[in-house]
Amino acid sequence: MLLRPSPADPPAENSLATRIDGLTKEYVLKSETVRALRGVSFDVPEGDYVAIMGPSGSGKSTLLNMLGCLDQPTAGSLHLGNDNISLMSDDQLADIRSRRIGFVFQSYNLIQQLTVVENIQVPLYYQGLLGPKEYKRAVDLAKRVGLGDRLDHRPNQLSGGQQQRVAIARSLVNDPYFILADEPTGNLDSVTTDEILALFDQLNGEGRTIIIVTHEDDVAERARRIVQLKDGMLHSDDPVSEDRRTAAREQQAAAALAVKNKQGT
Ligand code: ADP
Ligand code: MG
Repeated sequence: MLLRPSPADPPAENSLATRIDGLTKEYVLKSETVRALRGVSFDVPEGDYVAIMGPSGSGKSTLLNMLGCLDQPTAGSLHLGNDNISLMSDDQLADIRSRRIGFVFQSYNLIQQLTVVENIQVPLYYQGLLGPKEYKRAVDLAKRVGLGDRLDHRPNQLSGGQQQRVAIARSLVNDPYFILADEPTGNLDSVTTDEILALFDQLNGEGRTIIIVTHEDDVAERARRIVQLKDGMLHSDDPVSEDRRTAAREQQAAAALAVKNKQGT
């Protein structure tokens, strides 16, 4: 089995969700070679909550594509758990992507024709898993993200925040190595942003590993750690103090409350 470590594999040290080591990605174009990542290294232990930041063109999407098993590095290695992604074939990569990665996108990427529960089941469907057990799992996750009373709604009957909750439930359905979120609050107002970030806080509190790309400081400060890329290299990698996290949380809650009060009058 692909995902089961062979006896020869060393045990996971401190249970890393991912280990990024000397990661390099070059795009060879006709006239030039673009070096999108030039030797990026950092570990993400299980249970961490990492925000990836950096100016446009710094390599964030390239890194995210590799963490999501959508693309392979030119050099360096990338481990997800015990699996070395950089050595895998395209088929193996597709397999691991559908089975162990939970994506959350800015634009939700839900299927309009499917209900909430069906959307949550989509990653299982691709694995041919469609039994009552899987249905129950999807229902439980819908309840977990606060959509227990919306099970048969379709995406166009839901608010943006509710749609993003469906996407988060979907990301959890295959028990992923981590939630990989690309600007997950980019389309949301401050009230809903606060709700979604509170949900991430809860999930991380339950031990879920979260990796989020954002360009917003106050969103990044909710994470436990901020990794900054610059020119395809690691620019900084700093923990966020609990004080700073609390301040960001309180600031956003206050902003959300102000909006709610305004709407109420
Ligand atoms: P970010 O997401 O931080 O804005 P990207 O990872 O998208 O940065 O891009 C990093 C660099 O790689 C940029 O110079 C970009 O133009 C280049 N790049 C990204 N994808 C490709 C591609 N498919 N082909 C060629 N160059 C690319
Ligand atoms: Mg990008």
